[in-house]
Amino acid sequence: MSVTPAIRLDGLTKSFGQVAAVQNIDLEIQEGEFFSMLGPSGSGKTTVLRMIAGFEKPTSGRVFLSGQDVTDKAPFDREVNTVFQDYALFPHMNVLENVEYGLKVRGVSRSERRVRAEEALASVRLDGFADRKPSELSGGQKQRVALARAIVVEPKALLLDEPLGALDLKLREQMQVELKELQRRLGITFIFVTHDQEEALTLSNRIAVFNNGRIEQIGTPQELYEKPATEFVASFVGTSNIFSAEESSAVFGLNGAHTIRPEKLSLSSQKTDFGGTLVETIYLGSANRMIVELENQKRVTVLDPAGSGQERLPQRGEKIWLRIDKRDLVRIGN
Ligand code: ADP
Ligand code: MG
Repeated sequence: MSVTPAIRLDGLTKSFGQVAAVQNIDLEIQEGEFFSMLGPSGSGKTTVLRMIAGFEKPTSGRVFLSGQDVTDKAPFDREVNTVFQDYALFPHMNVLENVEYGLKVRGVSRSERRVRAEEALASVRLDGFADRKPSELSGGQKQRVALARAIVVEPKALLLDEPLGALDLKLREQMQVELKELQRRLGITFIFVTHDQEEALTLSNRIAVFNNGRIEQIGTPQELYEKPATEFVASFVGTSNIFSAEESSAVFGLNGAHTIRPEKLSLSSQKTDFGGTLVETIYLGSANRMIVELENQKRVTVLDPAGSGQERLPQRGEKIWLRIDKRDLVRIGN
């Protein structure tokens, strides 16, 4: 493929004194992608985003936008725009003025400003809110104003730093759907930062999983879920059973560390190679989550769909057998 990526990071590194915040990131993001950077707090996601936007200068490495090296360019000379977690709306300006602001500093005429700001507000379903002050808006509405303000200048890429972090669960789920729709409609590249693995899986075309300033794995949601490359990815994206090299050898006779998802394990009414004791059952409605201690004392989590054909659920302390298809085991590195 010779398509120029929307964003290319080449050996991107940032240190703050002794803190190695971002270490040697190589990444290509294609035009029109919904790309997420997923990782725990402090893993370097915001620092990468700030270097793409130009708010932070890399210690080493380069940033390319549409093939052009912008590493030494100021933020306003880059065709990207950022939506911050705290929205950063101007409190003394009304909604329309907030949205118009980016056009004003770019010297767009008053009449064109008005038209484009109203379009942007309509696209986030805020027509009719032009005269409100930010203090008169709900959290979700402020979020939408921040989005409108970012898209009104028609950036090639939108950088979103945990934009839904301050919203409660219901609203967050609703905004996820709206964001996805907006991205499809605008067709621009979204770089979305989140520590919420479910959010990243739901929204993204591809995800980069961050840990300690490095990328552990880049892939589609399905690739990350089904073929996690490392123990960190296996346990951070969804839940998983991890078998160290020693445990893999003892339980399965396999070399190297392995992982298997709880839904790949099931109870068997017949004897299998994997006998154990039921430690705990947690009722989840659609499924039962069971903790089983295998004979070598390794504990595993089993996700058993409700009504999966068992006459009765085994009791705590009962001896049971697990069905494990070795083909479902995924070899992982460290
Ligand atoms: P994330 O967004 O994944 O939570 P950050 O990129 O904010 O992570 O931070 C990565 C690391 O860099 C953390 O250890 C953080 O404390 C450190 N860091 C970030 N910004 C600064 C700064 N301006 N000065 C010093 N350390 C910083
Ligand atoms: Mg952050």
